[in-house]
Amino acid sequence: MLKIYNTASRKQEVFAPLDPNKVTMYNCGLTVYDRAHIGNLRSFTMADIIRRTLEYLGYKIIQVQNFTDVGHETFTDEQKAKLSQATQSSIEITDTDVGIDRLEKTSKRTGMTPWEVAELYIRLAIQDYQAMNFLEPAHRPRATEHIKEQQDLILKLLAKGYAYITNSAIYYDTNKFEKYWNFAGQKAEDKKVGVRTEIEVDPEKRNPSDFRLWQFNRPDHTMQWDFIIDGVNYRGYPGWHIECSAMAHTYLGHPIDIHTGGADHIAVHHPNEIAQSEPIYGEPYVRYWYHNAFLTVDNKKMGKSLGNAYNLDDIRAKGFDPLDLRYFYLTADFRTPQNFTWQSLKASQVARNKIIRTMKELKQSLSEKDNNQDHVTYQYEEKFKEAIEDSFNMPKALSVLWEVINSEISVKQKLHLIYDFDRVFGLKLSETEPDTIDPDIHKKLLTIIAQRDKAKSKKDFQQADELREKARKLGFELIDTPKGTKYQQII
Ligand code: AMP
Ligand code: ZN
Repeated sequence: MLKIYNTASRKQEVFAPLDPNKVTMYNCGLTVYDRAHIGNLRSFTMADIIRRTLEYLGYKIIQVQNFTDVGHETFTDEQKAKLSQATQSSIEITDTDVGIDRLEKTSKRTGMTPWEVAELYIRLAIQDYQAMNFLEPAHRPRATEHIKEQQDLILKLLAKGYAYITNSAIYYDTNKFEKYWNFAGQKAEDKKVGVRTEIEVDPEKRNPSDFRLWQFNRPDHTMQWDFIIDGVNYRGYPGWHIECSAMAHTYLGHPIDIHTGGADHIAVHHPNEIAQSEPIYGEPYVRYWYHNAFLTVDNKKMGKSLGNAYNLDDIRAKGFDPLDLRYFYLTADFRTPQNFTWQSLKASQVARNKIIRTMKELKQSLSEKDNNQDHVTYQYEEKFKEAIEDSFNMPKALSVLWEVINSEISVKQKLHLIYDFDRVFGLKLSETEPDTIDPDIHKKLLTIIAQRDKAKSKKDFQQADELREKARKLGFELIDTPKGTKYQQII
């Protein structure tokens, strides 16, 4: 029996989908103004594990994960300077209604158009997701492809009196939705998030917590769409929250079984999604809410300015495989905060390599020895199922995997169980070769290759040869290919 900790009730609940043949799941996806960092990837690994667990347990699931390519604003640099850095939490609140669209910000910095920014980071995100071995969701909708659906929902909210128009925006009136504060477990008086007095707010806003559904009169914004209401064209762009309500409804109907996101969304984004959806489509919007806690790096919050918002290229540059990172994520329960250090990633790499090597040995011994099946394996199967059914408890599930590896059961049974469990872990345990290269050596080799490239471009072939020798001393041959120089271990 699958149990899911439901953020809405703050309790572990038995999972009973509306239709077991069509479990619906929506994951708040990436804002494509930059590369996915390892915090984002923790959230999407959780989504992938939920998907795999449900399929393992025999459910059919329709997974939708969006790309946010418009409307998600952050503070401008000037606003940031004005804001006090008082918050000690590992979650940095950077979402705002009065800042600058994240894609527009990247566009200004790089000279690309916001459309090009979106194209670039969606392409890179899909590559990263493949490297992380995420199963492909049924749909990956983009906010800009669903402007009409968002406008339709805004019109419905206006018609029902849940929204109002000022001189610059259409707002959601949070006072109209009685349950607005329930989800975040806050009272209106306590609610400080999103209401920062240091920066100016629209004087026409009725309540500080009201949030923007549509912005107009912003000629500086590149992405704009016509929006005609009662003969007036409110040309502009959508707020961030409305896209998820509109796209979730479009692809999954109502209510949705499971909705995921990072814990930062419990305070603002998800209450807003609920407020936009329930008055129009009925209650509840979502039946099971599931949130991942935040990832910190060296016990500090991650941030572009801190230089610790690592992405998969940084992971690879240190000689790690993205699947080492995947293993690392599985070592902590998604609902507890996790701290990333290079040391802990190294420990995950060692563990994953050990499993892969064991698999190889097992496979070799399988062909040589008989494969008696006297041992009982159902106790491991049961234990594994218990772990994944306990709100997707991956550390527990991994410990069952290790128990199997160290057990006395037959080789054939071991292999069978490990393959079976890997349907949930997604670590490619049966396909991957062990990584035998020490990250420090990998780094040294990359430096040698770079130095050699330089020497070659200066036609200093003697130095180039010396560098080749240097690599040989480390046990590696340098091989020049059309895609650059690679190294290969000398056996
Ligand atoms: P964004 O690209 O900002 O829209 O975020 C995409 C997803 O990543 C959201 O569900 C966030 O809550 C989640 N997220 C962002 N930062 C972190 C972090 N440091 N740890 C875990 N999840 C995060
Ligand atoms: Zn969302």
